[in-house]
Amino acid sequence: MNEEEFGFETEAIRTQLERTQYLEHSVPLYLTSSFVFEDAEDMRASFAEEKDRNIYSRYSNPNTNEFVEKVCKMEGATAGFAFASGMAAVYSTLAALLKSGDHIVSSSSVFGATHSLFVNYFPKWNIQTSYFDINKPETIESFITADTKILFAESPTNPAVDIIDLELLGNIAKKHNLILVIDNCFATPYLQQPIKWGAHLVVHSATKLMDGQGRVLGGVTVGDPELIHKIYLFSRLTGPSLSPFNAWVLSKSLETLAIRLDRHCENALKVAEFLEQHPKVNRVKYPFLKSHPQYEIAQKQMKLGGNIVAFEIKGGLEAGRNFLDKIKLCSLSPNLGDTRTIVTHPASTTHSKLSVDERLAVSITDGLVRVSVGLETVKDIIADLDQALS
Ligand SMILES: *Cc1c(COP(=O)(O)O)cnc(C)c1O
Repeated sequence: MNEEEFGFETEAIRTQLERTQYLEHSVPLYLTSSFVFEDAEDMRASFAEEKDRNIYSRYSNPNTNEFVEKVCKMEGATAGFAFASGMAAVYSTLAALLKSGDHIVSSSSVFGATHSLFVNYFPKWNIQTSYFDINKPETIESFITADTKILFAESPTNPAVDIIDLELLGNIAKKHNLILVIDNCFATPYLQQPIKWGAHLVVHSATKLMDGQGRVLGGVTVGDPELIHKIYLFSRLTGPSLSPFNAWVLSKSLETLAIRLDRHCENALKVAEFLEQHPKVNRVKYPFLKSHPQYEIAQKQMKLGGNIVAFEIKGGLEAGRNFLDKIKLCSLSPNLGDTRTIVTHPASTTHSKLSVDERLAVSITDGLVRVSVGLETVKDIIADLDQALS
C-alpha cells in the first residue's frame, strides 16, 4: 500500500505514534511535564535542536505531536504547533511573525476576540489592521501597502456565514508577497483545505467542530515549515501550548470528524431549507442553499455547507430575544460545533455593546440568529425552532 494515497478518514484514524512496549491499540496519555536525557551531550544536542525529540511539554509532547501530525495530514501541511485555545493559536501565530510597523489586511468579519486583538491590542505595538468588505473582494488590493505582511480571513464567517473566495486570496497573497493566514474553524479540513488555494498558514479553534462534543479548548496552526518554526520558537518561550490531556481528547475526536461532519451538514441543510420557507423568517444564509450570495464559490471550495445556519427573524431585536426565550431543546450557549444544537442572537448578547453601525459593519443585523446545528434527530431540532418562531 502506498501511504501517500491514504484517504482523509484513514489519516484521521491511523496516524499514530509508535506503540510503547505494551503494544496498546489506542494511543496512551503522556501526562509528563518533562523528558529525561541520557547524558550531558544528549541534553546539549537536544536543546540545540540537533535532535528531534521531546524535551519539555511546553515545547512538545507525544500527545500534542500526534494531534498536530493528524491535522497536518488532514490539511495537506507538513508542520504545525498545537495551542491551548483557538485564540492562543491566532495570537501566537500573528505575534510570532509581525513586528512594530507591520500591517495586516483582514476580512471585516472575523471572530470577535480576533477583532478585539486587531483593534485594541496590536495597535499598542504599532501593528495596524485594515478591513476589507467581504462583499467587495475587488477592493482588497487597495488596502495593501508596503508595510502589509499578512492577509487574514475566515470563511465561512462568523456569525453571518459569508463566503470568501480562497483562490482569489491565494492569488492576491502571491502577487503581493503576503503571508495568507486562514482561520478554518467553521469548515474544518474535512470541508475545506485552504493550503490548496494558496494559504501559507491555517489556524483553528479545535474547541469547535474538531472536538465536536463541547469538552475541551484547543487550537492549532499548520502550514509552511519555515513560518511554523518561527511560531514554534515564539510559543515554546511564551507558553501557550496545548495540554497533553486536551491533545489526547482532540486526537480521538479527529477519528470521527468526517462522519460527524457528514451528519452535521445534512442536518444543517434540512434546517436551512425549513427556515427558508418559514413565514417568520426574512432570509436564510447557508453556503449550500442556492439563495446564498456566494453559492458558486462555496460549491467550488467546500465539500459540504458546514453546520452553521444564519437567519434573519422578522421583528428585529425584540423578536430575536423572544425567540431565544422560547427555545426548549436547543442550548443557549456561546460555543458552536457541538453535538448539541446551539442558538445565539448576537445583537442582544455577544455584540450588544456595539452600536448598530458597528454591528452592521460586521454583518450583524438586529434580527440575526445563528444556529450551530448539532447531531440530534433533525426533526426534533426543526420542531424546537418551529415552536420558538411561532
Ligand atoms: C471560537 C473561535 C476562535 C477562538 O477559539 P477558542 O478556542 O475559543 O479560543 C477563533 N476563530 C473562530 C472562527 C472561532 O469560532
